[in-house]
Amino acid sequence: METALLQVVDALKCIEDAIVRIKEMHKSRHYGCEECSLSDALGRVLAVHVVAEREAPPFDRSTRDGYAVRVGEISGDGVELPVAGMTRAGEPEAELPEGSAWLVMTGAPVPRGADAVVMQEFVEEHGARVTVQRMPMRGQNIVLRGAEAQTGGIQLNPGVRLGAVEIGLAASSGYAQMKVHKKPLVMILATGDELVEADATPRPEQIRNSNGPMLAALVQAAGGEPVLLGLAKDELEELGKKLKSAIEKTGAPDEDRPNLLLIAGGVSVGRYDLVEEALKKLGAEFQFTGVAMQPGKPLVFGEIAKAGGAPLKIFGLPGNPVSVAVTFRVFVEPLLRAMGGEVEYKTESRTAYLVDGWMGKKGLTKFLPGICECKPADDLLPRVRLVRWHGSGDLTSLARANCLVVIPEELDALLPDEPVQILMRR
Ligand code: AMP
Ligand code: MG
Repeated sequence: METALLQVVDALKCIEDAIVRIKEMHKSRHYGCEECSLSDALGRVLAVHVVAEREAPPFDRSTRDGYAVRVGEISGDGVELPVAGMTRAGEPEAELPEGSAWLVMTGAPVPRGADAVVMQEFVEEHGARVTVQRMPMRGQNIVLRGAEAQTGGIQLNPGVRLGAVEIGLAASSGYAQMKVHKKPLVMILATGDELVEADATPRPEQIRNSNGPMLAALVQAAGGEPVLLGLAKDELEELGKKLKSAIEKTGAPDEDRPNLLLIAGGVSVGRYDLVEEALKKLGAEFQFTGVAMQPGKPLVFGEIAKAGGAPLKIFGLPGNPVSVAVTFRVFVEPLLRAMGGEVEYKTESRTAYLVDGWMGKKGLTKFLPGICECKPADDLLPRVRLVRWHGSGDLTSLARANCLVVIPEELDALLPDEPVQILMRR
């Protein structure tokens, strides 16, 4: 039986509504946090503000190896001054005597009284004296104390995903530990009678489970903690049992971390696609059970109420691996990132010229594997070419691609070099 298909935008609206509720739960501290060290912080989501514990820089800092001077004492090019002393990085701030220059190293405090640093390259050194060959401008090569940050100033906001730069900034602000959101726990179950795991030798009619490991990797990359639950057969009772045990593993009422259940396969319209029925028997309610997209049409999104806790969100993803990659990117990832406490995540699309054009059918939003040459064309937009592929089971072609070309549902053709939106693939 065909179910009503939601347009992609409407399905995304459902996800956005769920994200609003998840954000409210984060605000009300429904979900927990934990301490994490700088070395474990990559990819974690900050749960608190990082503030500057002191001014940055904490002193007027020289950005060059050179000579600190008073600009007012230099009437033009070629002025000669005695060198009164030297400050290395890590040494305390000195005082510049009147009528003299002071040697400073990069990163050293500029002596009090100086208002410029002349680069070593623009000075002639002779013994204890220097000739300043180029008249400096006031402030040159000095970053004033507090210019980068004031004491107590916000350096990082809660909800930020920590990358290398954020970790560096936290370290410079005096944070060896940081409070981060607990990672969402994501249960992953692959279904299908034909499936065996990657280390098995399949019979000719069997298929290796690529969705499980791929989903685990996608979950990790989006900040979640995957739990691989193995395989389930296309058999209502077994499926029911495996789903029930997956559901039980999630969210005890007192557990303070978000949970998600991802099931791959068995959501289409075939006689042995039993996931929806099994979930329904366990009390699931569905927000949608099909999206007007290709690949990914049979996508299911719903939830199961959990006594005393937040409802468990569930995605029934189509079995084809490319459909899994696409539906994860478009629907699962934004929800998962919000569960992890990220506040500003948006699926990032870019505009590119579709070099060879496209012809097809209207009615479904297409997400087609493409190769984007990130080198822009003359008019500054990159170019993208569709990859030849054999449909949504063809992971080989997706691996060759670096993006998904989005073709709106109302179009049946695109001329060569028309602009399209692309999503870079993970
Ligand atoms: P289904 O959605 O269950 O009808 O499956 C659609 C297609 O995806 C079939 O060709 C399946 O063999 C294939 N498939 C389903 N699950 C997996 C999986 N975990 N890994 C690789 N291929 C799969
Ligand atoms: Mg199947």
